[in-house]
Amino acid sequence: MSRVVVRNADFESLRRTIDHLFEEFEVDLRGKSVLIKPNFGAAVGPEKSALTDARVVKAVLDACLEQTSDVVIGDNPGNLDTGAMHTIKMSGILELAGDFYCNISKGGEFVDIGSEIIPRVFLSRKVMDVDYVINIPKMKTHVLCGLSCCVKNLYGYVVGAQKARYHLESKSLKRLTQLWLDLYKYRTPDLNIVDAIVAMEGGGPTHGNPRRVGKIVAGTNGFEVDVVITTMMGWDPRAIKKLEMAWEQGLGEIDVEKIDVTGDFEVLPTFEKPPTFAAIDRAFNPYEEITRIRPKLDEEKCVLCRLCGDESCPAQAISFADFPVIDPKKCISCYCCVEFCPEGALYVEYDKEIFEIA
Ligand code: SF4
Ligand code: SF4
Repeated sequence: MSRVVVRNADFESLRRTIDHLFEEFEVDLRGKSVLIKPNFGAAVGPEKSALTDARVVKAVLDACLEQTSDVVIGDNPGNLDTGAMHTIKMSGILELAGDFYCNISKGGEFVDIGSEIIPRVFLSRKVMDVDYVINIPKMKTHVLCGLSCCVKNLYGYVVGAQKARYHLESKSLKRLTQLWLDLYKYRTPDLNIVDAIVAMEGGGPTHGNPRRVGKIVAGTNGFEVDVVITTMMGWDPRAIKKLEMAWEQGLGEIDVEKIDVTGDFEVLPTFEKPPTFAAIDRAFNPYEEITRIRPKLDEEKCVLCRLCGDESCPAQAISFADFPVIDPKKCISCYCCVEFCPEGALYVEYDKEIFEIA
């Protein structure tokens, strides 16, 4: 059984909170190289609360620097390299800790991670090179997989646009989920610190609604941290297929009562689920059916930037006649376009017909 610590937190006392967590988990970084892995996945500003808050990343960086100078902050945003730097600028981390930011998208190699889904996965070399990985995801919902937190954040080990391609190459949502678990097993983070000061509810991972939770949640077992986060959202962790599969594969406990949870744990009142998961519970879990829901366009929000096109869509399902047009036959419902549209103009919604048929 691992320990998960939940602490009330705000930006003013953040550094103290992180210091206490380092003490509680006896973090010893002396003589070690460290990768701090936030979620800087999409090019949106801090007000959206879609990315790990740069102040949380900075507080973790400062705590690390007390012990070692060999620290970098790095993530692989989902779009191509030029877009990656734009995304990093939007995160605000360059102003706070620019010298420590490393564009880990630039050094990648194909690695056998022992996955049956993708034989050789294109990973940032930095992930393999460092002694210690600190995973700092955001507490947020996800229209494709319900929850984006510790396990899902490690998809950012994969370099840039490869992530979108693996949506296509993995051939099903269940197989893609297995790839996420294989990445977690390949390089399990040494420590996970979840930014839950302002979380995201509703239609995450990019265009949901910010929700002030006021917590930092930490643990060495990222899967069990995800179980605790899901329970805080008021959701049965078994309703999240990724967590159920992780539990079946022996990555930890899925019953929160069997996890040593200490501190300021609470179940939040009415945490809004993503629309695609509105009907999902433990008894009725039509996971793959979600991938029959095609994104829709809100023309009022679309600024015709075309960022949802080939750079985001692995299936080349989007063409443009001024506004983007999605070919439903080509679309695999990976929702990458939804995630990377900077305006929130593409969205998915609960489809009663699909779930009734299911
Ligand atoms: S849907 Fe979004 S990404 Fe696509 S053209 Fe419109 S604003 Fe740009
Ligand atoms: S149109 Fe959007 S949801 Fe469909 S395959 Fe392309 S990126 Fe994925």
